[in-house]
Amino acid sequence: MTPSQAPTKREGIIFILSAPSGAGKTTLTRGLMQIFPEIALSVSCTTRPRRPGEVSGQDYRFVSQSAFTEMQARGDFAEWANVHGFLYGTPRAPLERKIKKGTDVLLDIDVQGAKKIKPQYRQAVSIFLIPPTWKDLETRLALRGTDGREAIRQRLANARREMREIVRYDYYVVNREVQEALASLKAIVVAERLKISRVKEWRVPSLRKLELGSAKMHE
Ligand code: 5GP
Repeated sequence: MTPSQAPTKREGIIFILSAPSGAGKTTLTRGLMQIFPEIALSVSCTTRPRRPGEVSGQDYRFVSQSAFTEMQARGDFAEWANVHGFLYGTPRAPLERKIKKGTDVLLDIDVQGAKKIKPQYRQAVSIFLIPPTWKDLETRLALRGTDGREAIRQRLANARREMREIVRYDYYVVNREVQEALASLKAIVVAERLKISRVKEWRVPSLRKLELGSAKMHE
């Protein structure tokens, strides 16, 4: 069903997906985008060097420290954070343009970013992805081969800190097996889209006159 065929009109939903690095977030993000190709993936700016295979403007916008600082000063970011020694920021304008248009947006950001987005965008839905075990996380980081020993050690220490923030999130998903985790993510997206409280306007003629926002179920 395309958004224009949907029986309701609503604002786009911001889905925040956070996970300790190595929890399998990239694979799941790709899988989720295949299930819901209409969800827009927010492209962050970062001062981190590009990894082999990454495409600027697609995975990230790779920018210099000074360019990042300028954008920060102009208030171009909805949130920004220092993650593993580099700066990362979510561009505000494209995010707000999309949600206003009714397009759902996925933010792949860390726990600091999620903490800053939630109070600004009350409708945002946050999901924390966890690995089944610590051993699993260590193995995945080592297998990824993109980071050196010291970077892996730092990422594991960060992971322990980040996991404590799980209580601030709306949902958790355990990445034991990709298809199972994807099914959970899909369930969250579908349920959030069906929330009556998100409806701005019904397209179903018999429901059009309902006063939205003021309905009291228990009167
Ligand atoms: P990586 O460098 O491995 O791609 O990402 C490192 C971490 O930075 C990940 O946890 C990712 O979610 C987070 N991250 C990516 N973009 C942003 C952003 O715009 N803001 C924040 N706060 N974190 C981000």
